[in-house]
Amino acid sequence: MSECKSCQSGVAEAVVIHPRSVKGLFRSFKSAVLVAAYTVYFILPWIPWSRPVGDPQAVMFDLVSKKFYIFGLVVHAQDIFWLAALLFLAAVLLFFATALAGRVFCGYFCFQTLWTDAFRWIESFIQGDRIKRIRLDKQPWNTEKILKKGCTHFFWMVLAFSTGLTFTLYWAYAPQLVVDFFTGNAASAAYYTTFGLMITTYIAGGLMREKVCQHVCPYARFQSVMIDKDSLVPTYDPKRGEGTAGRAKPIKLLKTLEQRQEQGVGDCVDCGMCVQVCPVGIDIRDGMQYACIQCGLCIDACDTIMDSKGWDRGLIRYESENGLEKGKTHFFKLRTYGYGLATIGSVLFLLWSMSAQRPVDGSVRQIRSPLYVRMSDGRIQNRYFIKVENKTMQPARFELTLAGLDNAEVDMGKIPDFDLKPDESQRLMIKVRKAMKSTDPKNVEFQFVLTPKSGAVKEPLIMNSQFIAP
Ligand code: SF4
Ligand code: SF4
Repeated sequence: MSECKSCQSGVAEAVVIHPRSVKGLFRSFKSAVLVAAYTVYFILPWIPWSRPVGDPQAVMFDLVSKKFYIFGLVVHAQDIFWLAALLFLAAVLLFFATALAGRVFCGYFCFQTLWTDAFRWIESFIQGDRIKRIRLDKQPWNTEKILKKGCTHFFWMVLAFSTGLTFTLYWAYAPQLVVDFFTGNAASAAYYTTFGLMITTYIAGGLMREKVCQHVCPYARFQSVMIDKDSLVPTYDPKRGEGTAGRAKPIKLLKTLEQRQEQGVGDCVDCGMCVQVCPVGIDIRDGMQYACIQCGLCIDACDTIMDSKGWDRGLIRYESENGLEKGKTHFFKLRTYGYGLATIGSVLFLLWSMSAQRPVDGSVRQIRSPLYVRMSDGRIQNRYFIKVENKTMQPARFELTLAGLDNAEVDMGKIPDFDLKPDESQRLMIKVRKAMKSTDPKNVEFQFVLTPKSGAVKEPLIMNSQFIAP
């Protein structure tokens, strides 16, 4: 694990990292993302949404009917490639963002970061800020310690349980599932999912925290491949910070900038604030490290110190290696253009694919046992299974006819039309009979034509098949 380098405050050996709270631009942004993410995650399953079929829940992943409901969009099992497209989009977006601005995802948007932040907020609310927490850790077990630690773990459990239960609510009708869950009537999968996620959340967010980023998450390992000398990352400016004589505390004759410059001392007053606020316990002044999740909190800490002295901000800032060395950053290069184009391409593909979703879907399978039957009137009969799915939210009526097969009739049990309810699918057994001529081929390609008679479907659906004769 990354050792806590807060030796300035005498806690070098501390195994648990107790970051100090800090105020500033990046802390505010992180808090805003946290509030937005929690609001969306915890509220979404409770938003009602009226639709002709399915439960009235805006976002619900219904495994029983194999349909995902996302507000007005219904994702059917056949649309699962959208998931693949979405994953591809997430991957290229991540590459694009990392190439431009390093591990911004880790620092601000990753679940692990968000949940660890919330767990830490609970901890400091109950136990106090950094110094108080360190003192509490060191003191022997007494009533105060038992109460504070116990309360912390209790509320961690509450948050972990809420996280697990909320996740489960996405997979069933939330109001009913909550009642079933607490009365012991929910499916066992609901309990396994909730408690499984509760335990993993408690361990990852409360106990392991930064160790997940350092030792479990693979992304931290391959980020160095995606970051280059032009990526913007939180960077300490060593020229400014160290001067020619190194950093020094603002003692007697080193209090003002002028005095420091005269003695060749840099602007870093070696206060250790950047280290104390760091959630992974590293010292940014040692250069870029794989453990850094690039949350920007050290920037906030250093800016606060610079402000207090009336000096320019930016001793630690978002900067690229080239920016620091040559004063120029090339944001847009072949690689970033490639990631950007792939991102735009996958967004466009997803939008096009969703807007072009067919309102009716069908498939045909020939029954091959037997391949054909000779009727008493001499005609040949083939049988087929046809599956038709009305994906619209309106009832629909269809007529089934044949194209490309002369002297043939379709028999659906004497019913020429059939009806489908909104978002309903039906499997029909169809018979096709054909009067054969001596010149007819033994194997004929033809089409089933499904023509809409009423409902929201306007275009006919054509399904290819073949007719087999002796
Ligand atoms: S070094 Fe700075 S940016 Fe990196 S994790 Fe620590 S506080 Fe965040
Ligand atoms: S916060 Fe700034 S001034 Fe203080 S030790 Fe870190 S880099 Fe130096």
